[in-house]
Amino acid sequence: MRAIRTLLIANRGEIALRIIRSARVLGLRTVAVYSEADSAAAHVTAADEAVPIGPAEPAGSYLNTAAIIAAARDSAADAIHPGYGFLSERPDFAHAVQQADLVFVGPPPELLSMLGDKIAARRIAVSAGVPVVPGCDVADLQSAAEFGIKAGYPILVKAAAGGGGRGMRVVEGPEQLTGALDAAAREAKAAFGDPRLFIEKYLNRPRHIEVQILADNEGRTVALGERECSIQRRHQKIIEESPAPQLADDVRHRLVEAALKLADAAGYRNAGTVEFLVDQDFFYFLEVNARLQVEHPVTEIRFGRDLVIDQLLIAMGERVSEAIPPHGAAIECRINAEDPQQDFRPATGTVLQLALPAGPGVRVDTHLLTGTEITPYYDSLIAKVISYGNTREQARRRMLVALGEFSLLGVRTTAEFLRGAIASEMFARGDLSTRFVPEFLRQWSSDADLKLALIAALATARNSKPTAPMAATADGARSSTRGHSPWTELGDFELWRPVSS
Ligand code: ADP
Repeated sequence: MRAIRTLLIANRGEIALRIIRSARVLGLRTVAVYSEADSAAAHVTAADEAVPIGPAEPAGSYLNTAAIIAAARDSAADAIHPGYGFLSERPDFAHAVQQADLVFVGPPPELLSMLGDKIAARRIAVSAGVPVVPGCDVADLQSAAEFGIKAGYPILVKAAAGGGGRGMRVVEGPEQLTGALDAAAREAKAAFGDPRLFIEKYLNRPRHIEVQILADNEGRTVALGERECSIQRRHQKIIEESPAPQLADDVRHRLVEAALKLADAAGYRNAGTVEFLVDQDFFYFLEVNARLQVEHPVTEIRFGRDLVIDQLLIAMGERVSEAIPPHGAAIECRINAEDPQQDFRPATGTVLQLALPAGPGVRVDTHLLTGTEITPYYDSLIAKVISYGNTREQARRRMLVALGEFSLLGVRTTAEFLRGAIASEMFARGDLSTRFVPEFLRQWSSDADLKLALIAALATARNSKPTAPMAATADGARSSTRGHSPWTELGDFELWRPVSS
């Protein structure tokens, strides 16, 4: 048993704020750390105390172990929650936290080392009798070429230390092998300091489904159902939901069983996620994420829990509480500061005006305030909109309304793109795979082009009638000139809404 009185949050953005809130519910004092770019950030004002830790560049601040440990010492913190990303899965950081006689809210460093190595994690899965994607642990040219012949192309080169889709290359044929291995090793070395690679068969249209687990220090483990995370861009999740739609109950149960077996074989501790690729009735272990996931809210809602509180209680040595039966359905959309019309290029700027969704069945996790600067230094995730309902369809409709209410002036975002995806027939049917985004984008860009063409045509027609006032901007549709806006006449919102909704 180790009491925690003051918690330092080694992170920023929505997740820092999210952790501060839960720590407060437990009556803990909270300490934020911040970079020079974040001195006015929401997590800084929200915490009881805030300590500057360095420059805007993450290497000098949010990745600076020495500065973070010093901040914990100076603020008399007795524990550190790393959030997700940054130092959350770095064994050397967890080790330094322990060496400073602080509690690390997460698995012990040895587990982070073992599971952070995807080749080692695959071996644990195999030893636990959990299927892995057919593959080959050594990725020199000869073994890769032999595997390519045996398994058939395409194959996927992956980094042993990989994360965030980096160091991954699809290889369509033997002629691409040398180039792909070189490029992946270089990328992996630069990103993780570890060039080791392995190879998997590249599955054509799989689903990504993962299982949330919680394990206490005595090894009691509970599984909190699955999350469907197939909707991704460049291997990064953008829409997640729980439960996974259109999944046979038998597969659902077997996934949970496999995750528990694996957690047991690894001696897992604290919160973690076991990720799988699912192909019809078959599933394959992908990796373990040994931390809180971005998409944890959809599980919290269905299972009526606060996973950050679970993590803190486990870190204090408490017993993990049993899961109550889940209820309803929840969907999360990650709104990014990116421009979908420019191939999702990261967008920066100042939030000039902000309206956030609310209402029954809607939760928004964000650090945005009017005046917040979106800088190029950090992840482009700026808000998570989560909707829930008794049924998936109710959650989906609430999400459509919520994304329609999300309004941000000053920075381009993916909100409208997400709304299009949620409105699509494919999503409504639950026809999901990791190919969803490219399949949807083909249709979405033609919708968007069509809309622009219609606006242009209407504007030209209007301009030829001298009595008709023009209000050709999206804002005009919401102002008193609404009746004259081409957006109104086009039924702008209706373009995104399927007739059935
Ligand atoms: P990272 O840790 O870099 O995020 P993952 O192994 O978790 O990498 O995979 C991320 C995504 O890449 C998966 O959700 C899936 O969309 C795709 N992917 C990974 N492995 C395969 C595979 N063998 N076949 C097809 N797609 C894959």
